[in-house]
Amino acid sequence: MTSSFPRAQVDIDLDAIRHNLTLLGARAPGSQVMAVVKADAYGHGALPVARAAVEAGASWLGTCSLGEALALREAGIETRLFSWLDTPDVDFAAGIEAGVDLAASSLGELRRIAAAAKPGTRARVHLKIDTGLSRNGCPPSAWAELVDAAAAEPRVEVVAIWSHLACADEPDHPATDEQAKRFAEAYDTARSAGLDPMRHLANSAALLTRPDLHFDVVRPGIAMYGLNPVPQAEDLRPAMTFRSAVALVKRIEAGESVSYGHTWTASRDTNLALVPAGYADGVPRSLSGRMDVWLGGRRRPVAGRVCMDQLVVDCGDYTPAVGDEVVLFGAGTHGEPTAREWAGKLGTIDYEIVTSMYRPRVRRRYLGERS
Ligand SMILES: *Cc1c(COP(=O)(O)O)cnc(C)c1O
Repeated sequence: MTSSFPRAQVDIDLDAIRHNLTLLGARAPGSQVMAVVKADAYGHGALPVARAAVEAGASWLGTCSLGEALALREAGIETRLFSWLDTPDVDFAAGIEAGVDLAASSLGELRRIAAAAKPGTRARVHLKIDTGLSRNGCPPSAWAELVDAAAAEPRVEVVAIWSHLACADEPDHPATDEQAKRFAEAYDTARSAGLDPMRHLANSAALLTRPDLHFDVVRPGIAMYGLNPVPQAEDLRPAMTFRSAVALVKRIEAGESVSYGHTWTASRDTNLALVPAGYADGVPRSLSGRMDVWLGGRRRPVAGRVCMDQLVVDCGDYTPAVGDEVVLFGAGTHGEPTAREWAGKLGTIDYEIVTSMYRPRVRRRYLGERS
């Protein structure tokens, strides 16, 4: 049985995704755009976001795992796909067959990809240089050997060299220039090996602040979802709204306490609104006692602890109706809480807030769907 009551629901505004991606594309006019849709599009839903990104001009889609890329291909997405991080037992053959570009950070990865290409076919590979993030990527000391091997490998087509930045969200951080320098050296080495690869380096933050690092392809993720990774203001529209609705209204007297542990006691007679969304639905319990929701045209505090399945809002003398909308976080344009605000209180980043909304109990609704 499906109910239309938005118990715990994220609304994804595909018009906002298209707006953001159009803006990002205009900021990198000489580059192709690879929309990053890993982790189920940062919790927004990979397939609808991928479609919206392509509608807004993305000519590439980026995923973490090959499985994420194959799911898009199987759903009918024909855009160029690039996947960059898998477990060592991944079946590269399925990726090559589906026309997914693959990443190689080491000779071992390069050889496994080459071995998975059917005779007479070539795997499309992007060689990753570690320019200073020290996660995956080939260290500079092993790079010449990797590019030489790739150039000599008939079952591999080297499409690009690429890397990832550590500190692009701090525009004055000196690490970015150092990484850019190492990237330039890696490119020279690849050219000397006889390769003529494309280059890509920029995430959202570098796209917005470092036009000198746009190269052939830019790889925006978070900014496409409307969350701004850089200090300067940008005309981005957050695409996700997390909402629920009032399930029950009651009045309690001054002195009555609310929720587990009785951590909150009414100082006056007050109306309470029960909201059927809790930490199993993505409302962090650690926001208990320090979060507001948007209800009836203003912010109202959550009273007491957030429970697994529900929370309680202190409404004072305002009397909401059952079914009234409750916004947990949204774009912030009316004054409602935002993912950024939650992240600040929780000591994390908004990336983690939206990505963690991918949960079985949270229903997704898409606004602005074209197909
Ligand atoms: C996640 C990711 C991106 C996108 O980063 P944002 O900061 O979200 O723009 C780009 N490139 C790679 C390799 C990534 O893993």
